[in-house]
Amino acid sequence: MSDTAPHDVTTDAADAVLSGLGGLRENLESLYKDLHQHPELGFQERRTAGHVAQALNEWDYEVTEEVGGTGVVGVLHNGDGPTVLLRADMDALPVREQTGLPYASTGTGTDADGVEHPVMHACGHDVHVTCLLGAARLMSDRTDAWQGTLVVLFQPNEEGGSGARAMVDDGLARRIPRPDVALGQHVLPAPAGTVLTRSGVMMAASDSLRVTLYGRGGHGSMPERAVDPVVLAAMTVVRLQTVVSREVSATTPAVVTVGSIQAGSGPNIIPDSARLQLNVRSFDEETRTRVLAAVRRIVTGECAASGADREPEFETLSEFSVTENDEEATGRVAAAFEAAFGADRALTVGPLPASEDFGELPAGLGCPSTYWGIGGIDPDTYRKAERAGTVHQDIPSNHSPRFAPVIQPTLDTGVRALVTASLAWLAPRPKGE
Ligand SMILES: [Zn+2]
Ligand SMILES: [Zn+2]
Repeated sequence: MSDTAPHDVTTDAADAVLSGLGGLRENLESLYKDLHQHPELGFQERRTAGHVAQALNEWDYEVTEEVGGTGVVGVLHNGDGPTVLLRADMDALPVREQTGLPYASTGTGTDADGVEHPVMHACGHDVHVTCLLGAARLMSDRTDAWQGTLVVLFQPNEEGGSGARAMVDDGLARRIPRPDVALGQHVLPAPAGTVLTRSGVMMAASDSLRVTLYGRGGHGSMPERAVDPVVLAAMTVVRLQTVVSREVSATTPAVVTVGSIQAGSGPNIIPDSARLQLNVRSFDEETRTRVLAAVRRIVTGECAASGADREPEFETLSEFSVTENDEEATGRVAAAFEAAFGADRALTVGPLPASEDFGELPAGLGCPSTYWGIGGIDPDTYRKAERAGTVHQDIPSNHSPRFAPVIQPTLDTGVRALVTASLAWLAPRPKGE
């Protein structure tokens, strides 16, 4: 240890870089509203990516576009020192916005199957893009306050789970300097102004499957001539409820949700097949493997029990690994946050059942990483619901059509968190440390 503790150095550098935030605030707020009104589905984030690339070019970043589809990377070289990667995701969701906000989205988009949907930034990725652009701008304005290399990465299709992987597969590692750390953040249903870190497992693994169950169609009046896939699907859905309740230990978290069931076209026709779409969440590889195997066993077993002639088909729709935060990197970020935000607003958070593909980036680049949350809910509204014990009912979470982060202090907090965390690596150290 030198006489000057590292977080003091970080705080000084952060104060210098963040002194420009007040002058930038209005621009960031209108940028946020613009992005919110123009959400784009995964791998279609062309308008957002175009805006990002143009801004980064103006601020002297070396910009590479179309990495893994619509991904954009900007590199700012600023002398010797560590390399820090900051990541934001850009995609929106097929959700019809019901926030009633003056800047609510009314846009639509067409998914990969050609189906048109209303589209909304229901996960808050517009917050992430805005905050990362704000941090990128402030860091480029005050290159006198830090040293090293800053990489800002805007990825496509986080919701589909394949955007980060697409950037890695498109040669990301040879297009940017190897980072010493990768950092990312997500706006969460927590009081705005708070930052939430966690060492170790932060978010769940998620596996989405489509299962086709084959029966044998026929007349509704003559079920003895058919194998009814509707009954088969119903039995399968019920039996799948026993995976977590009967096969996973009481101390191990896991979720199996059948989110979609589709079969048939009329009341007196037994259809040929039924389709289920289901999602599995788990927090460790052993449980993940075990639950997925149980799902397969039950589906296959129910088909046999119904006398189906044909084996069911399993199709993977998306796969997210566990998001695991590096202990050393998280400790460094948490200390910097505590110095910057104070102990009452720099909090820790339990493992979250949501999932993320952020981990594909550090895995593909061979560097440690940490990922934190920022609150997005008006603090008074949140505290009121907390006191009444109605947080789950009253506070819309990510993916809800009513998810509406308050603009401030959410944006300020997100920008400050990114700057503060990157400077935990990039702030110049006093000589001799
Ligand atoms: Zn999401
Ligand atoms: Zn998200």
